[in-house]
Amino acid sequence: MASVADFVRRFLDRPGSVDLTPFQRTVERAGELEAEVRERAELRAGEVGTPEFCAVMREAARRALGQRPFDVQLVGMLAMLDGHVAQMATGEGKTLAGALSAAGFALQGKHVHAVSVNDYLARRDAEWMRPLFEILGLTVGWISETSTREERRDAYTKDVTYAAVSELGFDVLRDRLVTDPAELVVPAPQVALVDEADSVLVDEARVPLVLAGAADPGTAVPEMAALVRRLSRGYHYKVDQEGRSVFLTAKGTDTVEKALGVDLYQDPGVVTEVNLALHAHALLTRDVDYIVRDGRVHLINQSRGRVALLQRWPDGLQAAVEAKEKLPASETGEILDSLTIQGLLRGYPEICGMTGTAVAVGEQLREFYDLKVAVIPPNKPCVRVDEPDRIFATAEARQEALLDEIDAQHATGRPILIGTLDVAESERLDEALRARGLRPVVLNAKNDAEEAAIIARAGAQGTITVSTQMAGRGTDIRLGGRPADDDGTAGDPEGSVEESTESDVDESTERTVADLGGLYVIGTGRHDSSRLDDQLRGRAGRQGDPGGSVFFVSGEDELLTAYAAGESLPPSDPDGVVRHKRAEELVAHAQRVAEGVNLEIHRNTWRYTRLMEEQRTHVLELRDRVLHGDAAAEALREAFPDRFRELSETAGTDVVEQACRQIVLFHLDRCWTEHLGYLADLREGIHLRALGRLNPLDEFNREAAPAYRSLLDEVEQRSKETFETADVTADLADQGLKRPTATWTYLVQDNPFGSDWERILQRVAGTLKRRRKK
Ligand code: ADP
Repeated sequence: MASVADFVRRFLDRPGSVDLTPFQRTVERAGELEAEVRERAELRAGEVGTPEFCAVMREAARRALGQRPFDVQLVGMLAMLDGHVAQMATGEGKTLAGALSAAGFALQGKHVHAVSVNDYLARRDAEWMRPLFEILGLTVGWISETSTREERRDAYTKDVTYAAVSELGFDVLRDRLVTDPAELVVPAPQVALVDEADSVLVDEARVPLVLAGAADPGTAVPEMAALVRRLSRGYHYKVDQEGRSVFLTAKGTDTVEKALGVDLYQDPGVVTEVNLALHAHALLTRDVDYIVRDGRVHLINQSRGRVALLQRWPDGLQAAVEAKEKLPASETGEILDSLTIQGLLRGYPEICGMTGTAVAVGEQLREFYDLKVAVIPPNKPCVRVDEPDRIFATAEARQEALLDEIDAQHATGRPILIGTLDVAESERLDEALRARGLRPVVLNAKNDAEEAAIIARAGAQGTITVSTQMAGRGTDIRLGGRPADDDGTAGDPEGSVEESTESDVDESTERTVADLGGLYVIGTGRHDSSRLDDQLRGRAGRQGDPGGSVFFVSGEDELLTAYAAGESLPPSDPDGVVRHKRAEELVAHAQRVAEGVNLEIHRNTWRYTRLMEEQRTHVLELRDRVLHGDAAAEALREAFPDRFRELSETAGTDVVEQACRQIVLFHLDRCWTEHLGYLADLREGIHLRALGRLNPLDEFNREAAPAYRSLLDEVEQRSKETFETADVTADLADQGLKRPTATWTYLVQDNPFGSDWERILQRVAGTLKRRRKK
């Protein structure tokens, strides 16, 4: 009987989403085994994926953690074990479902890397789930930024290793310079289980992880910063509609040339410097794109709204922003190797993940990782009321209505969580609310250390929490709880908000807050991705709690001015509200355009990085053969049999073989670094060639492939030369084979291969073209 309903449901499912029926049947049968498994003294899981296995996993969690996994968590587990991305709403218990599937992989003898969003969650989840792994006879470890090499190596020997994606990538990059197999840290990748899969696999996919070495101070450009500060927008330079690129007008070009006494056409280097300064000046805004703290520029991660640790822009842009803020330039170095997050994760033979919002990026997950989405239903139906957007003609009308609404809701005692789009806005709103005598608690990139405590109390009666996107992920808001002002800390997040505990929530206050309608989430504007909106809404209504959400949108919002330019909202009523179906459609349309632009950027970047990463994989295969075998000695013996024999007789074969290995590894690493530099230059320069109507990507590929072949020749040449001329029994480092003494790692926020960069360069090319015509 159920089969017709199943059929219809399957038919209606979005393409690419997984049919849950077989998983649900297995879990149903597991339910029948529950009582019997509970009697067993010893837990043995049996074949992974069977009803028996599910029943044992449920019992293991019950005994180890005191939590009996819900059916939907077991369904999520099976979906992940089958290699899918499980979409499970906030509060459904992804941590447990993820740990259960990690255990399932581990029970099949596979090492699992549980990829967390940050260090805090890596450690928290590993420690929280440890009893579960142990009861199943499995080991678990975690890695954080401060872990030593020994600690890391140890953590990777565990069955399941929790780590932030950046730490995994940095370890992989650092291993890449090792010249003794005993120093390797990361074993061959097997399974990646990715938490917040949409954020990591899509939003951050094109972020390069970089390994740099051999420090030299950055090129500070204070004169350029001073110069562009004097230029006026519209007259000297223009910003495109989407706010992604900026370029000099003819007037601006003249002014710059006069001020610098140069001819920009003759000097493309200066053009780049001017454009970087202009980009820093006109497109990057303090407290939106970055904050300045402790005399340093800290980037803000746009999709998470928090300070992006260890991130920087490409060197030139970083220096330009530092000059704009009149800060000393931070150090830069030669890029020894780099790898995108997408490249890193595609290196795993098996990958799966979980997130609250996957369906909207289903197409990208399929295209880039061959992953499907399994939409797991909630344990208890969601009763949150998502109101339609309230749309206003002007930002001013929106602001008034927003403050009135907060006032009115707060008067009832209902807890309110307000999501703002950036740090600056969260601070303006805080001020406006205080002017009305309210006492909001602010959570943004500037005080993210208080996050857990602030969020734990956001569900308390009478609490107003103002937060950037960071509250959207990885944290749990329970209804009830001790209001922040009980201990006088309201509005003083810098103060002594200690970690809140479950005991803060007592059932009577929980009921009171539920009677008030539960948590009310207000967005001060729609994000440029519907997933971010959904993450924010998802803060309310967890596990069947009551709750509500609404977004306040204005026709002056960047989303509309940038992505629905030229189309205007229908007229507003006298109260400033636009009540018209078309207004809603326009907002939805702008968001879809924005999402489309981001997808195109992702695709385009991948087209360029793909070739580089294929080459990288190939180089590393060669490197591995040299590192672990005697391929280097074989090759050099064949080229110089006499010399090889003579050296072996005097120094011993082992010494010579080891020297051969060091020589080839050195040149292989050195040539790869040079190749990366070449590719970066090629990628920049290709746009000048695009003027000649050649397809830049074809052009890039046409040059990058032979460049790679000559890299391999070059390694051979240089290795032979060294072997022939160097004293292989002495220290090779003294003979020109000096490796970087210090290396460091970071993430690049704005991919230099990415489109912003591309656009800057396109503008440079455009300027040149215009001038040439003159
Ligand atoms: P998510 O990451 O999906 O938002 P979490 O993993 O943070 O959710 O879990 C939310 C809360 O639900 C946690 O406090 C967790 O202890 C609790 N929880 C999860 N699974 C169960 C369960 N099967 N039984 C009882 N509580 C659970």
